[in-house]
Amino acid sequence: MRLANLEGRLALRSGDGYVDVATASGGRFGPDPQSAYALWPEFAAWVRDEAHTGDVMPITVPDAGLEWGAPVPSPRQIFAVGLNYRDHAEESGVAVPDEPPVFTKFPTSLTGHLQDVTLPEGSVDWEVELVVVMGRTCHRATRETAWQHVAGLTVGQDLSERRLQLAGPIPQFSLAKSYPGFSPLGPEVVTLDEIDDPDDLELGCRLENGEVLQKGRTSNMVFDVPELITRLSAVCTLLPGDLIFTGTPSGVGGGRTPQRFLAPGETLVSWVEGIGTLTNRMVAA
Ligand code: ZN
Repeated sequence: MRLANLEGRLALRSGDGYVDVATASGGRFGPDPQSAYALWPEFAAWVRDEAHTGDVMPITVPDAGLEWGAPVPSPRQIFAVGLNYRDHAEESGVAVPDEPPVFTKFPTSLTGHLQDVTLPEGSVDWEVELVVVMGRTCHRATRETAWQHVAGLTVGQDLSERRLQLAGPIPQFSLAKSYPGFSPLGPEVVTLDEIDDPDDLELGCRLENGEVLQKGRTSNMVFDVPELITRLSAVCTLLPGDLIFTGTPSGVGGGRTPQRFLAPGETLVSWVEGIGTLTNRMVAA
């Protein structure tokens, strides 16, 4: 299944259009897109058994007039992992980690597909990432059971203002990566049954003029998704609807000589194979 946030309402992909979940389920699920994850086992069963069987499904075909929101708009926790691809650790000038460096992106930084991002002063960099959406409460998961706690996967950008990130005595990732709009997400959350090999997906980002900025494969993660879930849940309780930004491959602007950052008017196009393409335009404050 593929889930979106259209006009602030939970929408289920059906062919070229979407079913409004609250309407189709008679109010049992939705309309808040976040609510699907709180009731994930029941919701997934409803989609499997009933969502497509009725003949009164209202279908909405997205067009330029429809507003996309983050498909997971209000997670209780957002985990993000730094330096999780060897080539990105190298371009950052640091050793490949033996323990994942973890920070948060505050939920007010989330935004959706086709939403503008206002650039603050400083040096705003791109980081395309595979984002994991949790579907079940999980503490002390094992590698073998880790994927069973996942609702689906989506595309994310971990936009980062490098000047603030690197100012002060130690880097402060969470604040510098949490300006409004600094966590574009979507367009859709895709469940694992629609993905051939969730451990090996091409991901990348480019500018709208076609220039490729980043391109990699999730199979090159230092800590793969089961390992991240195992290590995060060894400490924290992961909750349904939580997000994990799993790190970025090489090609960020801060790792270049000379360095290069996003400018007003540029449009960033981010993709993960089999999951989707997320488009966001940068605008001046
Ligand atoms: Zn990142």
